Amino acid sequence: MSFLHINNVHKRFGETHVLKGIDIAIEQGDFLVLVGPSGCGKSTLLNMIAGLDSISEGELRLDGRCINDVHPSRRDIAMVFQSYALYPSMTVAGNIGFGLEMRKVPRKQRREAVDRVAKLLQIENLLDRKPGQLSGGQRQRVAMGRALVRDPQLFLFDEPLSNLDAKLRVDMRTEIKQLHQRLGTTIVYVTHDQIEAMTLASRIAVMRGGELQQLGTPQAVYDDPNNLFVAGFMGSPS
Ligand code: ADP
Ligand code: MG
Repeated sequence: MSFLHINNVHKRFGETHVLKGIDIAIEQGDFLVLVGPSGCGKSTLLNMIAGLDSISEGELRLDGRCINDVHPSRRDIAMVFQSYALYPSMTVAGNIGFGLEMRKVPRKQRREAVDRVAKLLQIENLLDRKPGQLSGGQRQRVAMGRALVRDPQLFLFDEPLSNLDAKLRVDMRTEIKQLHQRLGTTIVYVTHDQIEAMTLASRIAVMRGGELQQLGTPQAVYDDPNNLFVAGFMGSPS
């Protein structure tokens, strides 16, 4: 049985059929990257996994249980967005620890968890600053810290690097890859950047118009595309 099973999932917003039966099985430790053109339904799928959007049809199973009707706060899933949504009046430490505070984790334990994550992300020296005093890359690290500190079963990333400049994007890409290797976490990562997909993914899911076009290793998707769309989108020669 897969760790996360997306089983014939549909999404309708009124008359609009946005996801048309998505099937993906994700194993523990996978780094699954969802790619596809803008509007193909990547964020919608991620939001459904996080519980921010309801499921019109189909089933999501996480670690053996159906989570269709499980409240987002009870899913043990952390999501990192493109816009960081940090609390401007709180310090970096406060931002990272806020989720733990809400869960009534005692102060000492909270501090230890925040320190551990800050060290991992190399932002120990920024803990007393406010988000307004940080660069874009530093803010993105804090946003990741906020997700990591909860030690969730599953990480969701929705185009986390698309607001960063090209150089920083490459650096952060490397860091995310190293974090995944070090922690062995399961990640579902959305991007519209093919290079990002090729370098990060253990497997790539190529979407178009609410349908899955191909699911495979980066090499398989690149070397052996299912159709012309995948070939064109992934930039492969065939
Ligand atoms: P992507 O993340 O791949 O760019 P989205 O998942 O954001 O695409 O959107 C997929 C489609 O669903 C788009 O056509 C979008 O307009 C539509 N959509 C997304 N959210 C809503 C909503 N709340 N109500 C109506 N349509 C929506
Ligand atoms: Mg999106």
